[in-house]
Amino acid sequence: MKAVVIKEQNGEVAVEERERPSPGPGQVLIRVHACGVCHSDLAVLQGAFPFVQFPLVPGHEVAGVVEEVGEGVAWPETGARVGMPWLYSSCGHCEQCTRGEEVLCQVAPQVTGVTTDGGYAEFMLAPAAYVAPIPDALDFADAAPLMCAGLTVFNGLRNAGFEPGDRVAVIGLGGLGHLGVLYAKAMGARVAVLSGSPDKEDEAKELGAERFISEEGTALSEALLDWEGGANVILATAPSTGPMTDALPGLAPDGTLAVLGAAAGEISVSPMDLIGARRHLIGSPSGSRKDIRDALQFAATHDVRPRITKRPLEDAADVLNEMHERRLRGRVVLTMA
Ligand SMILES: [Zn+2]
Ligand SMILES: [Zn+2]
Repeated sequence: MKAVVIKEQNGEVAVEERERPSPGPGQVLIRVHACGVCHSDLAVLQGAFPFVQFPLVPGHEVAGVVEEVGEGVAWPETGARVGMPWLYSSCGHCEQCTRGEEVLCQVAPQVTGVTTDGGYAEFMLAPAAYVAPIPDALDFADAAPLMCAGLTVFNGLRNAGFEPGDRVAVIGLGGLGHLGVLYAKAMGARVAVLSGSPDKEDEAKELGAERFISEEGTALSEALLDWEGGANVILATAPSTGPMTDALPGLAPDGTLAVLGAAAGEISVSPMDLIGARRHLIGSPSGSRKDIRDALQFAATHDVRPRITKRPLEDAADVLNEMHERRLRGRVVLTMA
């Protein structure tokens, strides 16, 4: 089988011919049809995760079909349409796992395409208990970006206490941000987009945003407070802490800024800005098994479809380079011939 391998930190990203793996007990072999390219894949390449063991096959936005099942696997069956999200597996017995929040497991969390080989390949192994069924209404290329980007924004809104009718400000309009707008709109939000790229205004409006706030020369908090008293939720999807710091005081009373984009640097906020209006600052990781099922089902029934560009698996190195140079729009999905 073909697999795209990162050989070492900042090293070559090469297509290799590898032996097709066989599922062990409790595992399934997925024939990958599509795998989204997430900003975290670039972070893996650049060495942002010190625990990564190279060589590694990246990719945690996987959509495909169960090709083969290992011993003891009752579900899913061969031929089932499944995906693999960020969370590959967890310990299963800690306080977080047993309350159904296994994405918060601190004991033995494994991450698809980060701590174990992922979906930039024609086949990948996955623990049967952690694959997610893909609703029939979603094709593979549309489902793939929902496994990380879609799940992260959908769950970020839920963790931020979103309610229909809320004003939601989305910082950044990339792979994560554009799905933030689509999910928020479909969930009944009013949406503003904050972006450092003034040329994204048309795209923001097309996706359903009622306001576009350019970060250039604008006090973000004031622009948000002008929006009927501030945003109820801010989804910070761009991996940059400056706009998070600037936007936070633009939350309405009891509003929440959810940090989704892993950025270097620090967010600063004055205690008075937090206390007076009882504002909240939270982080929100991708999600647990229930969350990915909810995110996929919601997308299927509410017509949430990511804006994707399909590229062949062999283009992976180029795509990561284009992402590094900030030349990508929407989400790139690698497809297997
Ligand atoms: Zn991701
Ligand atoms: Zn655990």
